Amino acid sequence: MPTLYVTHPAALAHQTPLGHPERPERIRAVEGVLEKERFASLIREKAPMAEMESLTLAHPEHYVIGIRDMAPREGLIRIDEDTVMSPGTYEAALRAAGGAVLAVDEVMSGQVRNAFVAMRPPGHHAERSRAMGFCFFNNAAIAARHAQSRHGAERVAILDWDVHHGNGTQDIFWRDPTVMYCSTHEMPLYPGTGAASEQGECGTIVNAPLATGSDGAAFREAMETIVLPRIEAFSPDLIVISAGFDAHWRDPLAGLNFTEADFAWATWKMMDLADRFCGGRLVSVLEGGYDLEGLSKSVAAHVDALMGRDMRS
Ligand SMILES: [Zn+2]
Repeated sequence: MPTLYVTHPAALAHQTPLGHPERPERIRAVEGVLEKERFASLIREKAPMAEMESLTLAHPEHYVIGIRDMAPREGLIRIDEDTVMSPGTYEAALRAAGGAVLAVDEVMSGQVRNAFVAMRPPGHHAERSRAMGFCFFNNAAIAARHAQSRHGAERVAILDWDVHHGNGTQDIFWRDPTVMYCSTHEMPLYPGTGAASEQGECGTIVNAPLATGSDGAAFREAMETIVLPRIEAFSPDLIVISAGFDAHWRDPLAGLNFTEADFAWATWKMMDLADRFCGGRLVSVLEGGYDLEGLSKSVAAHVDALMGRDMRS
């Protein structure tokens, strides 16, 4: 079965100030690499705008309306120190969430094996009622809840390997026994949450912080000893990956030293779990990744793995 790739040109219309790391060129870099011949067999679809009923799976309606009403008609406005809205931001954010919903629909209905959604703005810092850290709507959380509400998934596991902790996803699922949120991330680092002691009210939050300077070996060890056994015991019906690639050694925003081979390895491990528990069902959504070369090489390795190619051999 094929792999689905979801994006939309509206992702380029979310503008940030000159010098801001979360910039349209990130999506162009992903597009550039996935245009290559070896990705020709990807199923390609445009991300639709998420409906209110999808957004309110993770956010209160008044929050969604507040974001919509904050969007400027021209110029840029700041939501916080690093989170900025331009006239194109609201549509891009709707399509980032809508792309994740579309990917869940196609994966859960068996039309594709798995999916990668390359949109921006990213989502994992967006809490139920707070935009922050470049994020407005929590795309991974909406995807997980949509799989439950529309497709009958009982348990969904989210793995977040972005270098930053996904405080937003943790906030949304803090009291939810049906969604397991697992994160590897550098600590200490923005946003400051993600200690191993933060386990949620139902024990379904799994944080595996990594010390600054950690490389892929430390990541693989945390995955093998902490994350993978917990997801296995949880026996999910769908796996969602918050796929940030800013733990790459080239990335300017953080201090971990993963290579693209580490992302491919982790993708394989998650596909193995998906094969055993979820009929292969896996949806990956782009989060961070700010060095264009590190990002595009990591995305290529990730999507190669999703397509079933083992580039190690
Ligand atoms: Zn990040």
